[in-house]
Amino acid sequence: MSHISPMQWDFALASQGLPSAQPPAQPPRLLLVDDEPRLLQSLCELLKNRGFILVTAQNGHEAITRLNSEPFDLVILDLRMPDISGQEVMDYMNVHKIDTNVIVTSGDSGIEAAISVLRRGAYDYLRKPYPREELLKAVQNALQQRRLAAENKQIAARLESSERIYRHLVDSSPDIIFTLDHRGMLTFVNHRVQPLLGFNAEDLIGQHYADLVHARDMERAQYVFSDGQQQQRWSRNIELRLKSRHLDDEGRVFSVELMSISFATQVKPADGEPQRPDRLGIYGVARDITDRKRADELIAYQAYYDVLTDLPNRVLFKDRLSLALLQAKRKKAGLAVMYVDLDRFKVINDSLGHHLGDELLQQVSVRLKGCLRHSDTLSRFGSDEFNVVLPELDTVQDPTRVAQAFLDALRVPFELGGQVIHITASIGVAVYPKDGESVDDLIRNADLAMHAKKSQGRNGYKFFELTMLNQSFEQISVESGLRLALSAGELEMYYQPQVDVKSGKIMGAEALMRWNHPQRGFLGAGAFLPFAEESGLIIAISDWMLEAVCRDLLAWNTLSDDRPYLSINLSPHYLDQGDFYDKLKATLERFQISPSQLEVEITENICIRNPQAAIDQLHMLCQLGVRVAIDDFGTGYSSLSYLHRFPIHVLKIDRSFVMTIEDDTQQFPVVLAIISIAKGLGLKLVAEGVETEVQKRYLEQAGCQTFQGYYYHRPMPQRALMGLLLSQSIH
Ligand code: C2E
Ligand code: CA
Ligand code: CA
Repeated sequence: MSHISPMQWDFALASQGLPSAQPPAQPPRLLLVDDEPRLLQSLCELLKNRGFILVTAQNGHEAITRLNSEPFDLVILDLRMPDISGQEVMDYMNVHKIDTNVIVTSGDSGIEAAISVLRRGAYDYLRKPYPREELLKAVQNALQQRRLAAENKQIAARLESSERIYRHLVDSSPDIIFTLDHRGMLTFVNHRVQPLLGFNAEDLIGQHYADLVHARDMERAQYVFSDGQQQQRWSRNIELRLKSRHLDDEGRVFSVELMSISFATQVKPADGEPQRPDRLGIYGVARDITDRKRADELIAYQAYYDVLTDLPNRVLFKDRLSLALLQAKRKKAGLAVMYVDLDRFKVINDSLGHHLGDELLQQVSVRLKGCLRHSDTLSRFGSDEFNVVLPELDTVQDPTRVAQAFLDALRVPFELGGQVIHITASIGVAVYPKDGESVDDLIRNADLAMHAKKSQGRNGYKFFELTMLNQSFEQISVESGLRLALSAGELEMYYQPQVDVKSGKIMGAEALMRWNHPQRGFLGAGAFLPFAEESGLIIAISDWMLEAVCRDLLAWNTLSDDRPYLSINLSPHYLDQGDFYDKLKATLERFQISPSQLEVEITENICIRNPQAAIDQLHMLCQLGVRVAIDDFGTGYSSLSYLHRFPIHVLKIDRSFVMTIEDDTQQFPVVLAIISIAKGLGLKLVAEGVETEVQKRYLEQAGCQTFQGYYYHRPMPQRALMGLLLSQSIH
């Protein structure tokens, strides 16, 4: 047996002009089979040192054993052997699919033997004795044939797998990939078309592209495609709506990239005929951009519309207003801008939850729209602010009519999540050209008029007046001034007595804040506390207030053994701060004031963000001995439902109800209802804002005990109250 190194074999192959396979091929393995030891020996001699691995077998059995145990590239097989013939060995190889080339050597001179082995698949047949060169040549040829066959197989396998890869790539592309022939017929389309458009790729082959294009885009498609069929090196990008078999789809939008390709014409021209030019076809990639398109549209929509109500937003409103202004100027006509703001919307929104709050805004927008003409523009600027342009005014009567229609439309209660909601609005109106000539001026002045309406009592409309401009400048200065007011000692607590109707005695007082403003003079709480709430300054102000009232209360106690109670108003933001209870307790302790002398007034706004935390703190207050009063009862939303949740001792009838009592021969059912609720729940009643004898009498007869209002006393400074208390203790 002989071995040569793989390197040498590689070189041998290369010298024969064969492509060398990589990695370097193993040296060929040869099995030499002959029963005659001498012949076998000379065969070995002949083949050794030629880069083969040689294995010998001295009979058929041994040959089969060898073939079973290791692979061979070539068998040189003697035909006549005593145990098993060469034919039988070959039969065995065929049955067991042993893939090896075979060269048969035989002393047999008859042609039958040769035929029988060639039929069995032998590569060559050599008659003994054969010339050495003949054998060497046969061996070389057999090995080369085998090598080529193996290489072919490999190439075929590689081609098949690369074809599979390309197919896979094409089919798993997110895009539809297709080719069209010169007539526009589909010659290829990948499987992506199935999920995207619902068509079977195979069914589409041979169909015209027009069958896939949406009718709306057909003209454009035809223009572009026919263009592409004329020119070489042509490419184009076009957006097309394609037909879809999916039921819910009325055409998806695709961005289609097209490129010309040339198909070589198959038919060879006859002699003398000119070669026909290659036919042009089109290669295309269609990308589904439906979702992006929709997103684009949505973004464009959102730039100009309010998504919640579908109304124009501020940008579009201003645009429409400026157009309307141009026209009004040209036609010398009037125009009105209205600013509509819902009253107490924040409270409703906070207590209903934002979802129902949104629904309320939608219902409001529908109602407002119903009051307008087609040419009017209603828009939403955000939160609960709606704006209107009324172009081409005839008379000032016009905005009045619309404003009244708005108020009437809102008067009908809203139904939301099974609850009945009442809402009102404050409306400001600015008229061109009287109140302004520019977009911004008109909007601002309508806004000012709306705010003026708010501060004068909501639920109504107001036209812009020049004085409002000055007031608005003052408001801005309030916010900045308020920061300084605390440190400058400009805040002061006033007290309004609460009087027992039978005895006429002052039982306690409500603390009300005042601001001695350096420029604007004396300001009531309503003129600045709302700003403090908005700016967050209310926390520091409330801290100061706690100290101030405790100090004052301590002074009251020095006057007599009477212990009048003191009632403070609690900002919801203050209660929302987690440390409110601790602060209050510490302050009472520091001043050594009995908690039973203190009352806190809360409104339903108290449970803005974290109702449970607020309720918990109130419960702790109660345990401490502080009483809780419900302020402004009946004016807000869900008055009854929260009575259960809070620990309450006192109910204050709001001034707005007391105000309605003008004549004590009449019945005032709301007032009576509130009084009976308080009685039913065992709460103490305080009537607030009592200004007249009539009101006092009616309320007293209805069962009210304690009164607070101008009829008895206005809010007064500490010193004035001290005087009152002192004189009361002497009498
Ligand atoms: P409120 O608690 O409902 O206070 C009653 C308001 O009605 C007070 O206005 C009071 O001056 C006024 N008033 C009392 N009797 C009569 C009357 O017979 N006729 C009329 N027309 N008005 C009467 P004020 O002081 O401007 O307070 C407004 C609101 O500001 C208060 O409403 C209260 O919610 C809040 N507030 C006042 N002081 C404080 C405070 O120290 N802290 C907090 N957080 N809020 C305060
Ligand atoms: Ca109050
Ligand atoms: Ca009140």
